Amino acid sequence: MPEVYNWQLGREMAYPYDARFPEWQFAFVFNINRCIACQTCTMACKSTWTFSKGQEHMWWNNVETKPYGGYPQYWDVKGLELLESVNPGGQTWSPSKADAKSPYGRYDGMTIFEGAAKRPTEAGDRALGYIPTDEEWRHPNIHEDSATAYEGGPFGLSKSGANLPEHKTWFFYLQRLCNHCSYPACLAACPRNAIYKRPEDGIVLIDQERCRGYRKCVAACPYKKSMFRPTTRVSEKCIACYPRVEGKDPLGGGAPMETRCMSACVGKIRMQGLVKMNRETGDWADDPKNPLTFLVKVAKVALPLYPQFGTEPNGYYIPPRWAPRAYLHQMFGPGVDAAIAAYTAPSRELLAVLQLFRATQKMIFRFEIEPGKKVFERDIAGKKWEMFNDTVIAFDHKGTEIVRTTVEEPVIVRSQAHQNSI
Ligand code: SF4
Ligand code: SF4
Repeated sequence: MPEVYNWQLGREMAYPYDARFPEWQFAFVFNINRCIACQTCTMACKSTWTFSKGQEHMWWNNVETKPYGGYPQYWDVKGLELLESVNPGGQTWSPSKADAKSPYGRYDGMTIFEGAAKRPTEAGDRALGYIPTDEEWRHPNIHEDSATAYEGGPFGLSKSGANLPEHKTWFFYLQRLCNHCSYPACLAACPRNAIYKRPEDGIVLIDQERCRGYRKCVAACPYKKSMFRPTTRVSEKCIACYPRVEGKDPLGGGAPMETRCMSACVGKIRMQGLVKMNRETGDWADDPKNPLTFLVKVAKVALPLYPQFGTEPNGYYIPPRWAPRAYLHQMFGPGVDAAIAAYTAPSRELLAVLQLFRATQKMIFRFEIEPGKKVFERDIAGKKWEMFNDTVIAFDHKGTEIVRTTVEEPVIVRSQAHQNSI
C-alpha cells in the first residue's frame, strides 16, 4: 500500500491510493460548548435532501448525546474496538513529538487502513469496518439528554477518576455529518471506483450511476456517514450542499454559501468554509486570516473527531469544557487540554473570531480586526483576563465585506412610541 502523510497523526500512514490533494478543502468548526440540540440543522438537511421514499433512516446530519447515544448506535465504540482487536492497548499518542508538521504530536497506534492490512479478509477489505444492523440505524438521538457519572477511560474502565473542574455528572451533544475526509475510507473501499473527491473543493461524492450497492463504503466509513438506500439499491451520502458551495444558490448572488445545516444553526455553533490547500504537502496553506485556519492551526482551539481512525477528517470541534478529559482525549486526541485552556480564556483575536459564527450565510474567506476599548476584566485560572470591544470584519471570496460585528452585542433601545402600538 502507498504511504501518505497524515498531519493529524504526525506521521506517514498506509492508504490504498497515492496522495492527491484538492485546491480548496471543504472544512468546518463546531463549538460543542454552545449546542442546544434543537436539531434545526438536522431538519434543515432532512427537508432539503433526504425526504423521499427509501431515505427514512438517512440523517446525513445528526446531533447525538454523548456518551450513550450514537447514530447508528455504538458507531464510535465499535470502531474503537476494531482498532483494539488488531492492536490491543496500542492506540496511544506521543504528544512530545509535536512540531509544525504534526501539531498534536505523533499517533503510535493503528489506523483502520493499517488494521485491515494486518488482518486481511478474503474479500480484500481495505479498511476495518462493519455494517450496522437495522436496529442501530433506528434512532438518530437515542438516549437524548441521558447524563452519566462515568469518569472516562477506554470502554468504561476508569482508572483515575474525574478531576474538577470537570462535572461529575455529564453529557454533551455531538454534531455530526460527513467529514469530506482527506483520505476517505468510503472512497478507498469502493470496488467500483464510484466514489470521488472533487479536485476543486475536496467534497466527497458517490456517482449514483457507477454504484452497485455493495455497501463497502457503509462498512468502511468509521463515522458511518455513507448510507444504503433500499429503494434504489445504491449508497448515498452528504453532498456538502455543493450547489451552495459553488455559489449557485440565488440567495447568495453568486457568492459561495455555507451548507443548509450550517446556515440554520440556532445555537450559532457552526462555521463552514473552504481552506486553501498546499497541493504538494496536503497541509493547509499558511492563511492565518481565514477564520477556519485561524481556529484550527493558529489558536488550536478546534480538533478533529477521532483522528486515530486515519481518514484525516475535515470537521473540527471545540471540545466541551465540562466533560472528563480521558473521554475527550480518546475522542479528539492530545490537543484537548490546550484547546480547552484557549477557549476558557480566549485571546483577543480568538474572541473576535468567535463572533463570526453564524453572522452570515456567505462563506468567510478572510477576517480583519479593528481594536476597540477595554470593557471588562476578571481573573481566569489565577490570571488576569481582559476583554476589548473589538470590531471583526469578514470578507467573501472576492474580498468584498460581508459582515461587521463587535465583541459586545449592541443594545438597541426601541422608541417608547412604537411599543405594542397595535
Ligand atoms: S466521513 Fe465517511 S463518508 Fe464522509 S468522506 Fe469520510 S469516510 Fe467518506
Ligand atoms: S442547529 Fe446548531 S444548536 Fe441546534 S442542534 Fe444543530 S448544531 Fe446544535
